[in-house]
Amino acid sequence: MQYTMLGKTGIRVSRFAFGTLTMAPMQRDVPVEDGAQLIREALQRGVTLLDTAQAYGSYPHIRRAIEGYRGEVVIASKSATKCYREMEEAVREACQELGREIIDIFLMHAVQREEDLAERREGAWRCLQDLKKKGVIRAAGLSTHNFNVFIEAAGWPEIDVMHPIFNMISFGLLNAEGRDVPGIIKQAYEKGIGLYAMKPLAGGHLHKNVESALRFAFDFPYMHAVTVGMVKQEELDVNLKIYYRQPVTEAELQAAASNKRMYVVIFCQGCGRCLETCEQGAIALREGKAVIDYHSCILCGYCRQACTQNFIRII
Ligand code: SF4
Ligand code: SF4
Repeated sequence: MQYTMLGKTGIRVSRFAFGTLTMAPMQRDVPVEDGAQLIREALQRGVTLLDTAQAYGSYPHIRRAIEGYRGEVVIASKSATKCYREMEEAVREACQELGREIIDIFLMHAVQREEDLAERREGAWRCLQDLKKKGVIRAAGLSTHNFNVFIEAAGWPEIDVMHPIFNMISFGLLNAEGRDVPGIIKQAYEKGIGLYAMKPLAGGHLHKNVESALRFAFDFPYMHAVTVGMVKQEELDVNLKIYYRQPVTEAELQAAASNKRMYVVIFCQGCGRCLETCEQGAIALREGKAVIDYHSCILCGYCRQACTQNFIRII
């Protein structure tokens, strides 16, 4: 496994990172013990960077996976809370639930609009700066699906880490059209910002091209790490083989395949709350029911959180 310094943070991370959204209750809802076992195996095979978030519900999986583990573990978490107190509480909750005194990387989660940066998240950002000074977190930053947000935040002197969507078709990365995405990411990298990619498989849209999609992300030299979401042993095996440039067979790819998709159950009452959370414009109301457009859905799961009645599911 190759390790690299995450920009100027002083934090060493594995280039292959484990994204825990896929196994979390927000998506596949893998039992804690099974998820923990997979994470533990990834750690034993050299992965050190684990990505999670307050909203995912994967803290128990990670906590169980690292219990008694003596190797290196770097945890990146995030919270979409906006004000100072809520962010303070989110970091405290992460420390408590993960059983850690400090969280290595803490991000503002899913900063989707430019105005979020200037106004709505000012308190949360100030809080992360203070927690960094107190040593409760080691690095602060944000995750985003919006390239305008990436570009603006890359200009901040205090930004340590960014976690943007990055895949070979720029799928799901808003405002990327007509832009030199690799070139702009390279500039951020050269400024010393720590960068780790999300959705190298475009939320499942590249499931027929797993090998080339992962190769593209791993081979890009201006991304310190790439998160890969996994729920089963076969996926871990195949993805690590791809990472190590080892040959993979069609049968192995088939065994690892997980063609997941969101769907809305028939009981949807058409309240429209889920529509407001989808920046991709992938969900609409039709005849009084929410309908997902599979061509533009990136399987982020945000709409799922909005439906308090749990009418949005993933299979
Ligand atoms: S939030 Fe739930 S009930 Fe409301 S429209 Fe969306 S799926 Fe239907
Ligand atoms: S429909 Fe839901 S899962 Fe798909 S992109 Fe929109 S918010 Fe994300």
